[in-house]
Amino acid sequence: MRSRALTTALHGQTRVWSVWLVALSSALCVNDATAGNGQLVLVERGAPRCVIVVDQNASPVVLETAHDLSDILWKMSGARVPVASERPRGRVILLGKDEQDRNLTRLEYHAWRDGNVLHLSGSTDYGTVNAVYAFLENELGCRWYTPDSLGEHIPTRRTVAVKNLDMRDAPDFATIGRFGSHRQPGAGVRWLRRNRLLGFPVYFASHNWDNIVPRDLFDSHPEYFALLGSGRSTKQLCTTNPAVIESAVVRVRRFFDERPDYASYSLSPNDNTSFCRCPNCLALDAELGVDPFAEGGSITDRLMVFFNRVAEQVAVTHPDRRLSSYMYLNYTAPPRVVIPHPMVLPELVHTPWEFCQHHSIDDPECERNRRFAKYVRGWCKATDSFTWYDYWGHWYLCGFMGLVGNIRRDIGYMDRYGLMGIQAESHEQWWTQTLNIYVPVKLGWDRNADVDAIVSGFYRNMFGPAAASVARFGAMFEHLVTSVPKDAARDFEQAFLLGFTPAFHAQARGLLDEANRALATASIAPGERQKITERLRRYRYGLLLTEMQAREVQDRRAGRMERVFADLDSLRTLFSAMEADSGLSDAVDVRLAVLQNRTWLERTRQFRDIWEDPVRTPERRVELSLMLDAGETRRVAKELGFVLDWHIIGLWPNPGGPASLTHYEPEDTRTPFQGHYGRSGLVPWRECRSEDPFGTVDLRAFFRPENVESTVAYAYTEFTLSAPRQARIQLFADDDIAIWVNDRIAFGGKDSRTTDVIVADIPLRTGKNVLFVKILNRTLAFKFSVRITTPDGAALPELQGE
Ligand SMILES: [Zn+2]
Ligand SMILES: [Zn+2]
Repeated sequence: MRSRALTTALHGQTRVWSVWLVALSSALCVNDATAGNGQLVLVERGAPRCVIVVDQNASPVVLETAHDLSDILWKMSGARVPVASERPRGRVILLGKDEQDRNLTRLEYHAWRDGNVLHLSGSTDYGTVNAVYAFLENELGCRWYTPDSLGEHIPTRRTVAVKNLDMRDAPDFATIGRFGSHRQPGAGVRWLRRNRLLGFPVYFASHNWDNIVPRDLFDSHPEYFALLGSGRSTKQLCTTNPAVIESAVVRVRRFFDERPDYASYSLSPNDNTSFCRCPNCLALDAELGVDPFAEGGSITDRLMVFFNRVAEQVAVTHPDRRLSSYMYLNYTAPPRVVIPHPMVLPELVHTPWEFCQHHSIDDPECERNRRFAKYVRGWCKATDSFTWYDYWGHWYLCGFMGLVGNIRRDIGYMDRYGLMGIQAESHEQWWTQTLNIYVPVKLGWDRNADVDAIVSGFYRNMFGPAAASVARFGAMFEHLVTSVPKDAARDFEQAFLLGFTPAFHAQARGLLDEANRALATASIAPGERQKITERLRRYRYGLLLTEMQAREVQDRRAGRMERVFADLDSLRTLFSAMEADSGLSDAVDVRLAVLQNRTWLERTRQFRDIWEDPVRTPERRVELSLMLDAGETRRVAKELGFVLDWHIIGLWPNPGGPASLTHYEPEDTRTPFQGHYGRSGLVPWRECRSEDPFGTVDLRAFFRPENVESTVAYAYTEFTLSAPRQARIQLFADDDIAIWVNDRIAFGGKDSRTTDVIVADIPLRTGKNVLFVKILNRTLAFKFSVRITTPDGAALPELQGE
């Protein structure tokens, strides 16, 4: 009351009134008294006062947009504004190219009012579409956070009017891509259209060497393909072969001729690191002074020579296009000596297994990102522009992930170095990772967008009277991510989940309870209440999923196996419930979660079989559980038959294929008493003690910080028996494994890739027995475990004790 009186005293009643109007909206008037007072009234008290006009030859996307505009105005006001192709006298919303806008760029839009006409215009169909949705978003306050109708926010008002409008804008980045993956084609494309994501030129890369030289040429021309340890392979190409370069040039030119709409063609290698080792390719490396296969080696320079050779020829015929490639795996580092042809467009990939999403790229204390930032600076010197691929969602992690703080900071950082386009790995976790998708899309259009306003707007628009509680809920997850220790050794996939504590979940649940209470006591329209209730329900499922995944990972790490089995049962039940509930079908991508959890669920089922083997009584299992609770994981693992103490040596290159394909020095003697020449010189045998209740040896962790993509390692152990006996061996490996028992190979032929195999009837002898294991990594996880028991599954007594 006091401030109102003060304002009135200072400015008089009229002034207060006008300030109030401006605060409400700069272009809109909801007060009927002023309708017609210099305003273009589109809808008046729920009745249409205009017509939407499109050209009779308008393209489908413009027509669809015109009808969507009509639908949205109806949801807003209750008025059905007609769509027509004839322009009537009187007020119109005119969609399409306007003469004065023919110089707008491809996605640029112009929305302006001229007397009785509201022009929504672009020089292309996409420009026109963007004009419509920019008007709806920026002027009328509409939002489309997710593709389903629950993620839509349409403010309601009976009268819709425009005052002085002149709005023109284009996206700040040349391209924005692949946010969400849009498995529902209709709703997904509509979401893209409404968020002004259609029509961007394609600059992004894809793994594409299979298209440059088709695999079916392998029989007639094996020399086009990579020479690996044992012969040619279709995994990659031999990029020094002139016929391969010629084939690429022909392909690229044909593609550009057929697809004038494509801004680039991808020369990106297939998704592996099995690059050619033929004498010509190795000679090129030597000439460049690089060794891609050495410790920490990079193949970027070799690839850049190939890209440049293709670019030099394609530039003659198609100088305005680009040749893109992911800069990824062992080619993330910038080139050391080769200067990229201006046509080459690198796409820097910030992988979560090598780098870090928990801290910002410019965080000097995060060792992993410090390396990535160095690469960015190097690329910035080597080229004048690049695109960027990040991971703002990741596979089975379908729960809440608070990355907005890092996203906004990282986009700003990358932008300073010449960023041209942004895309990210994100999946359809629409109700748990909404802002990880929505915020970068908005920053892509406007690098200076007010992220705090976007975030608070999201909570306000989606949760109304419950917004404050849900915003605090979101902030908890943001805070959790940044509080992950800046420790280069942690496991990327589980870092999100290990930070969760029961107290955290209780507090998060408490905030959702608080949200429901706030909703219950608020006076809002029944329809709105129902929508917010449903959104909160999705949040609860998202939290449950986050909580269960976290609990399972934590229990597994701590060796609480009985609980792990129960956790997985709960997770399976939750997945089924979510799949069966159509209301939850787009809360998160359950289908993907199930797919990504499958190996993990299966593997744990195998462990459960071991745990519940009848050789152990239920009483003994209780005792083992108590030992696990007391932290005696090694004692339990030994009783289950797992071998825990190894000597390990590595690394050698893995060209792929079965374990029998390669042969390195340690296989000659199969003893751990001397070093060998590995890929980076003389390497020693080192001891390794597993603390895992299921005997798992994590070789990625063991060899850290070495790059273990496509590598081979060996492990040795010995034990003494007082009498001969028959044994059974069970092997778990990611990815391939071979095992020698004493002097005989027991497993490791053609089918060496296995998550679980049992080798029966192994004769062991009196005195010293030797297990010699070869483990081959293709990509990502590099793990193995070996279990040795009597034929009926009991542990060997000789292997018990420390
Ligand atoms: Zn080669
Ligand atoms: Zn970090």
